[in-house]
Amino acid sequence: MKAIVVGAGVAGPLTAMALQRAGIEAVVVERHGPPDPRSGSWFSFSPNGLDAMDAVGVLDLAKGLGSPTLRNVLVGATGRELGALPLGAPLADGTPALTMKRSELTAALVHEAVRRGITFRWNAGLIDARRDGDEVHATLADGTTLTGDLLIGTDGVHSPTRCLIDPAAPAARYVGLTNFGGVMPGGAAVLDGVDAVTEQWRMVFGKRAFFGHHVHPNGDVVWFVNVPEPAISPEERARTTDDQWRQKLITLMDGDTGPATRIIEGGVLELTGDNTHDLGHVPTWHRDRMIVIGDAAHAPAPSSGQGASMAAEDAVVLAQCLRDLPDVDSAFAAYESRRRARVEKIVKTGARSSSTKSPGAFQQVMLRAIFKYAVTPKNTAWMYDHRLHWEERQATNSA
Ligand SMILES: Cc1cc2nc3c(=O)[nH]c(=O)nc-3n(C[C@H](O)[C@H](O)[C@H](O)COP(=O)(O)OP(=O)(O)OC[C@H]3O[C@@H](n4cnc5c(N)ncnc54)[C@H](O)[C@@H]3O)c2cc1C
Repeated sequence: MKAIVVGAGVAGPLTAMALQRAGIEAVVVERHGPPDPRSGSWFSFSPNGLDAMDAVGVLDLAKGLGSPTLRNVLVGATGRELGALPLGAPLADGTPALTMKRSELTAALVHEAVRRGITFRWNAGLIDARRDGDEVHATLADGTTLTGDLLIGTDGVHSPTRCLIDPAAPAARYVGLTNFGGVMPGGAAVLDGVDAVTEQWRMVFGKRAFFGHHVHPNGDVVWFVNVPEPAISPEERARTTDDQWRQKLITLMDGDTGPATRIIEGGVLELTGDNTHDLGHVPTWHRDRMIVIGDAAHAPAPSSGQGASMAAEDAVVLAQCLRDLPDVDSAFAAYESRRRARVEKIVKTGARSSSTKSPGAFQQVMLRAIFKYAVTPKNTAWMYDHRLHWEERQATNSA
């Protein structure tokens, strides 16, 4: 059996490697060139996502890139700690959640997949796909056509594959926050006290924006800012310089507790004016031997810290279903029945945490209570402590 995998982000190379483990050949097509490990933002991989990476044999690769992250500490505008969000129990080998640069991870996953013999087609975006009997024909932007037994869309939150499967599929929703991020090389040297603590993200509900920083073991400080504002247009992004973005962020964070302005001023901008989207209920995930997984099917807002981990879980479960079910249609149905409730619950959780990033005094009182009574290790275990077992046989509609 041969699969066409569309998109070489987080889910694409993981899916191809999981399929290979299940005895299925895969070719990955990507609209851009190979990933540049230096570009873009940082993110956290949760223990449940790392467990899925382990099933594909790339946990050590992730451990080599990530820095341990045990909790997110939330701080109110006055400097008072509102609570700490635990990031789940570590894996059996002691690996906790890891913070890493997204592009470094995707570049390393692609490198590993190529080493395992998987083919990537760069600058070859999917334009069209159609079923013909037991085959799918994919038309690519480089003018070529690929034929496979099935097609898997791992093409992200604005997925073209989603629309090919269902032209009426919902579009991603702007969640009302823009995203900026960067790194301050050697920044740990200018921090002290609670701001210098490692193995955590420290996040401040500022008066006008939400700021987070993470002290990397190598002494760099990684940071992000979420700004509640209308979406930034491509024109505004094109005409705004890094110095102007930096000045905007410093003005927004001015007077807030914490080291935001110092870190932003002394650091390098790596992500500017990114509009944050989520994608909740997509009624049709598969049709005609084509399916969407990862952000293409369900994208929690970045504040959930779960998008990449969900994509990794999806990759493994889909490969298990294709390995164990007698045909593509029943494998897709079994996959959906195993995944839908979990991923949609996580998208809803992410939407709630995005809405709490808009500052407000009443909200901060509420948040203290939420962190104390609702967001406890026990209440979040369903999300972080989820584990996959590669050998476990999948059955029709196994939930
Ligand atoms: C600022 C930010 C912070 C985040 N923080 C976290 C976090 O802390 N933890 C977490 O788990 N998640 C986080 N996420 C979410 C996480 O990045 C996504 O959930 C994850 O990348 C989804 O993986 P994916 O492979 O499904 O999609 P993507 O990684 O978006 O990859 C999609 C790929 O498909 C390609 N593509 C698109 N169209 C085509 C086409 N027509 N043909 C071929 N290829 C195509 C794209 O170029 C891209 O390479 C964050 C996201 C953002 C934006």
